[in-house]
Amino acid sequence: MDQPRGLVLVVEDEPAISDLVRRYLTAAGFGVHLETDVVGALAAVRRLRPAVVLLDVGLPDGEGTDVCRAMRDAGDWTPVLFVTARDDEVERVLGLELGADDYVTKPFSPRELVARVRTVVRRSSAPAGPRTVRDGAVVLDPGSRTLTVDGETCHLTTTEFNLLEVLMGSPGRVFDRAELLSRAWGQADYGTSRTVDVHVAQLRSKLGEHCPVETVRGVGYRARSRT
Ligand code: CA
Repeated sequence: MDQPRGLVLVVEDEPAISDLVRRYLTAAGFGVHLETDVVGALAAVRRLRPAVVLLDVGLPDGEGTDVCRAMRDAGDWTPVLFVTARDDEVERVLGLELGADDYVTKPFSPRELVARVRTVVRRSSAPAGPRTVRDGAVVLDPGSRTLTVDGETCHLTTTEFNLLEVLMGSPGRVFDRAELLSRAWGQADYGTSRTVDVHVAQLRSKLGEHCPVETVRGVGYRARSRT
């Protein structure tokens, strides 16, 4: 079986980096469209409907975060991977709750980048199981990959959805952060405990009092058991 493919919109203003990324993604079977600024990226998102968007944070006419925010505001939940120049940008980008699915920090290995693009595309296109899971007002439907709270659709990133799906799939069971990384992110060898914490915080912010995720101090997280 071939790897999942699709069009990757690469938004990057440094030619050395975009050339490298394009070469590796093309070799991996992806189509690549390159834009170098915020304006071009937004036009391309609407015109090309990419499978995933790779967003450099520092762009000549603004920030990659502007692109992501505009997409989410328009109801576009295409997976977004941020490429950040510094570690301190990571926390800021994730802290903005833009609905980033993942990030890499420069300098990155092109192979690692390709692996992450594959993971995000696979996750967002994976056929999901049929079982609807419910906790009070929260209903998670893996079939349509939708989450409703009190009947209202709540938009989650692919990563947030997977995380909640893992936790709500085994209510009461405690997962440590390494297992959550492995199950919700698809591989355990990247990301940190902090990555899990940030996404749990985003879930709590979106679901408010309805969020079924509980912190188990010193261990990890669980979805409360429905008794
Ligand atoms: Ca840049």
